[in-house]
Amino acid sequence: MKSFHPEKRLLMGPGPSDVHPRILEAMARPTLGHLDPDFQGLMEEIKGGLKALFMTENRMTFPVSAPGSAGMEMCFVNLVEEGDVVIVVKNGVFGERMRQNVLRSGGVPVLVDVEWGTAPDPAVVEDALKAHPEAKILAFVHAETSTGVCADAETLCALAKKYNCLSIVDAVTSLGGIPVRVDEWGIDAIYSGSQKCLSCTPGLSPVSFSEAALAKIKNRKSLVRSWFLDLTLVMDYWEGEGGRSYHHTAPVNALYGLHESLVMLFEEGLEAAWKRHNDTHEMLVSGLADLGLSLLVDPAIRLPQLNAVTVPDGVDEAAVRGRMLTDHGIEIGAGLGPLAGKIWRIGLMGNAARPESVKRCLEGLSASLTAGHNS
Ligand SMILES: *Cc1c(COP(=O)(O)O)cnc(C)c1O
Repeated sequence: MKSFHPEKRLLMGPGPSDVHPRILEAMARPTLGHLDPDFQGLMEEIKGGLKALFMTENRMTFPVSAPGSAGMEMCFVNLVEEGDVVIVVKNGVFGERMRQNVLRSGGVPVLVDVEWGTAPDPAVVEDALKAHPEAKILAFVHAETSTGVCADAETLCALAKKYNCLSIVDAVTSLGGIPVRVDEWGIDAIYSGSQKCLSCTPGLSPVSFSEAALAKIKNRKSLVRSWFLDLTLVMDYWEGEGGRSYHHTAPVNALYGLHESLVMLFEEGLEAAWKRHNDTHEMLVSGLADLGLSLLVDPAIRLPQLNAVTVPDGVDEAAVRGRMLTDHGIEIGAGLGPLAGKIWRIGLMGNAARPESVKRCLEGLSASLTAGHNS
């Protein structure tokens, strides 16, 4: 075997996003023991940074040592008990995964099935809550990465409260790219990922739990069905001031990376980062229009960080993506499910949300589309 030296790509798909060199450098620093006092200091800083990022005072805010999917699973496996009715809003790939998580946690999912490419209608969600007064939880995806649609998280969380439900929110693609206000919106359990708008490497999932969520977990009658993701056990490592105990060996160097991405985010400022995502989105949309390309999603519910671009009739979707990668070194994403073959997904997440990247992407697309016409 020989060492692996990958080509430098510009990652502009649905994730992982382009990782900033400062983050890679931070990750190459000497590994400390996972209970080393210096490392514990770093853990405290990460918890503080994530609280600021989630805009919450929740004490239970930390990164799960695994990707966004594990954060999702942690929320469901801890909050859902045998027989709990959970209303799941599905308008893409990730809502369906939430439903699967409810089933595996022993709960009873009630699906609010929403057309892909559109946002959940709060009135329809309210009808489901009314029809199921026994429901304990409302779960939905804030930023649906499979379609590029943003849900009205504030309104949906207020509805959950009105009908005495806890809310579980998927913020994997939203966090760092658009506002996510955990306390103001009254979110009870939320999970995100390191590899989307935080520009970090894949493999960590920031989560946060409200006091109401913790109370439900505390009153469980049955054991959490996952040992590794049992919140109470994990917190013996992440909390326990002065008395932290071993649960699992934290991915020490990966956490250096997340710490650095938080340092960079607060150097820039959260609002400035949101603005940068939005500005580059507008630049992309106008450049796409010049190429005769349009977006799938209505402007009012579009995510700036995930752009679903309609593939024009007669264009070979996969061939264009292939040329982008091989001729231009740029990764863009394909459509999933009912949108397979119909859209490209261009991510403007984290470090990829820069005017230089948008320019390169548009040039690459222009050349890749023309190359298609000639062949
Ligand atoms: C990427 C993503 C996930 C899963 O995150 P992984 O890090 O791939 O496990 C979950 N939900 C949404 C909305 C995502 O975009």
